[in-house]
Amino acid sequence: MNAKQIFIPLSLLLTGLIGGHFFSDLLGLQTKLEKDFNIKKIVLDIEVPKKELKDIKNPAKNVILLIGDGMSVSQISVYRLLKGGPNHRVSFDRFPFSGIVLTHSEDALITDSASSATAYSTGQKTKNRYLGLDSKNNSLENLTETLDRYKFVSSLIATSEITHATPAAFASHVESRWDTDQISKDLVSSKVATLLGGGRNVFNTESNGGVRKDKEDLYETLKSSTNLLTTKQGLMNFDLSKEGRVFGLFADKHLRDIDDLSNHDKEPTLSEMLEFAINRFDHYQKKGCEGFFIMAEGSQIDWSGHVNNLQYLEREMDDLDNAVILAYEYAMNNKDTLVIVTADHETGGLLIESEGLSYTGDKVKFSYNTDIGKGNHTGVPVPVYAFGPGAENFTGTLDNTDVYHAILKSIGIDKSSSKGSCIE
Ligand SMILES: [Zn+2]
Repeated sequence: MNAKQIFIPLSLLLTGLIGGHFFSDLLGLQTKLEKDFNIKKIVLDIEVPKKELKDIKNPAKNVILLIGDGMSVSQISVYRLLKGGPNHRVSFDRFPFSGIVLTHSEDALITDSASSATAYSTGQKTKNRYLGLDSKNNSLENLTETLDRYKFVSSLIATSEITHATPAAFASHVESRWDTDQISKDLVSSKVATLLGGGRNVFNTESNGGVRKDKEDLYETLKSSTNLLTTKQGLMNFDLSKEGRVFGLFADKHLRDIDDLSNHDKEPTLSEMLEFAINRFDHYQKKGCEGFFIMAEGSQIDWSGHVNNLQYLEREMDDLDNAVILAYEYAMNNKDTLVIVTADHETGGLLIESEGLSYTGDKVKFSYNTDIGKGNHTGVPVPVYAFGPGAENFTGTLDNTDVYHAILKSIGIDKSSSKGSCIE
């Protein structure tokens, strides 16, 4: 037995005997030099237990799903504290139902956005990086495709490129989330009526300043076959009665890119895009659509965790919080609307600690616990909040695949039949 092997059982013994702050502080000094960790093997291959869901008497007609990428309880708690202390409440704190969502993918405890969003959009676990496919590469019918068969109109919104993993999982079927040539084609041919976000470069060929490798000029295709909007002004002034799909690509890359500050004024906020998608429903209702589904993602909450930047987190949480306020107010006035707020995973291992050794005082220390300056996803669960018809199913502990089933349950769809599409 070497010195290190002796230290571990001895430290456990001392912790047991002494307990309390004194010893953990000593141990704290020890772990400051070398991060404390334990590597264990865990079981991944047992079947996911299905949550029992209640039938909903008066089903929802509309569903707004808001996803804070990389947002777990710690991001929400830090945001709450920064906005007004522990007694402040963020928009979704007011929701009457909440639960815990387990986020692991089929092949890893730590999920990425692709497999987690695929769980939300198809109800099945898959491998990391996969979009709309099961782990054996079979194509899965995703939520927007299913809803299209039931006279729903769908919209996808993101503050990242619209081809990024979360929106892409709701409309594409590819093995790699980085295959943006294929994802963009899938989005163009998808059943989704309104797509709003960044990512013009993904639709443009390299010779036109874009990043497409396949030389297919999808940007030109969008110009000729859809209502292509490129500015916030264009979005605000759009004639909502106009025919055709709407593609809003408001930046070359993602929105609010710090390398492209001059473009920021031309970019809508998440709530402005959400408001547009909600208002656009009138047009489709006249065409016979019975309800809408909107997925809106605060994409960059995750990126603030990746770069361990608290200011960035606050800015992106503000954007999401405002969008949730809008969705909540809409649902208050339209009792047939279900609003769900959740996340795909946590990013950064964000901690809330006391400033010094004592727990007193009003100063708090926030720190990221994944590699400094290089945050990563973690395996802790994420919360889910729900308001509206079917909200009671988003309670207790859910697997991320249960969220998909709870959405279908809330609108009373069992997938066995079909009503036909309401979109030309
Ligand atoms: Zn991430």
